[in-house]
Amino acid sequence: MSKENNVETEHVKCLIIGSGPAGYTAAIYAARADLNPVLYTGIVPGGQLTTTTDVDNYPGYPNGIDGNSMMEDFKKQAERFGTQVRFGYASSVDFSGSVHKVVIDEKTTITADSVIIATGATAKYLGLDSETKYSGFGVSACAVCDGFFFKGQDVVVVGAGDTAAEEATYLAKLCRKVYMLVRRDEFRASKAMQHRVLNTPNIEVFYNTETKEVLGDGQSVTGVQIINNKTNEEATLDVTGFFVAIGHKPNTSLFVDWLEMDATGYLITKHDSTQTNVEGVFACGDVQDKIYRQAITAAGSGCMAALEAERYLAAKENVMID
Ligand code: NDP
Repeated sequence: MSKENNVETEHVKCLIIGSGPAGYTAAIYAARADLNPVLYTGIVPGGQLTTTTDVDNYPGYPNGIDGNSMMEDFKKQAERFGTQVRFGYASSVDFSGSVHKVVIDEKTTITADSVIIATGATAKYLGLDSETKYSGFGVSACAVCDGFFFKGQDVVVVGAGDTAAEEATYLAKLCRKVYMLVRRDEFRASKAMQHRVLNTPNIEVFYNTETKEVLGDGQSVTGVQIINNKTNEEATLDVTGFFVAIGHKPNTSLFVDWLEMDATGYLITKHDSTQTNVEGVFACGDVQDKIYRQAITAAGSGCMAALEAERYLAAKENVMID
């Protein structure tokens, strides 16, 4: 670390931003390839998995594991090979040169030969206090992660896009009854997905319907109070699960001046690659994946990012030697 004009600066070979499964997996691979990675955790170390309860679908944990412990394991494994894991968030970036600049906590400038972006995405919620209160205790934003806990029970899915349709059909296989709350009089989801929902006998769709309150007994969800926004008629659904599927927001605002994104803000990477439009800058995990969004797929793309960073740096070094 050196000081220039009173600003701390440090140069690293491989900088990783984000500490979910993608970031830590990239760190494990980068560290084992002697890239001496430095990983900044972001404001929520461990990422989205730390807000779920048990993770039962990640291979290698036959008895399941809670999200926090799993991310602690990922961190320990990354550190075992020499990754420097630091608490801090990237506050600005400058990808204009061949050496990339990332400012941490608005005060430390890191210059990096390669950058791996694994800043993830944040699930959108309705914003009700009762929804926050029961988050992880009946309220979830991931049917694939938490649906199993509601086997044979009745649940609500909020949303009308492809994610909501997919979550509802997934839950319908496990649950007795799935109520879908659609706020308009039509779906946003593709026709094919709508067709699947409407042809699943144990899914009941309520159109023009919004959530007024998530009800609970102080421990977990016991019901949902709904309101028809056309008639103002209210009703209570007796359910134990409340799945919010109203979209995700990728954490990409930092990169808006530098990296290509789609209309919804997801980073665009080259086909079969984690390479962004800037050489030496790679993106992995949910920040570039709006389809799968699983810990295992994020970890897989984290591995890809590290391998690609390694190849990129090796090629750069060879050019310098030549
Ligand atoms: P979308 O933005 O497509 O849909 C969000 C849905 O949530 C909309 O129906 C919206 O309603 C509803 N909504 C938003 N806010 C509220 C609110 N406060 N209360 C009630 N409902 C609300 O997000 P998705 O996550 O569904 O999809 C994101 C992208 O990923 C899409 O491009 C989708 O096609 C794609 N995707 C593709 C999949 C696949 O190909 N298998 C699977 C999953 C996603 P409204 O319609 O009224 O605005």
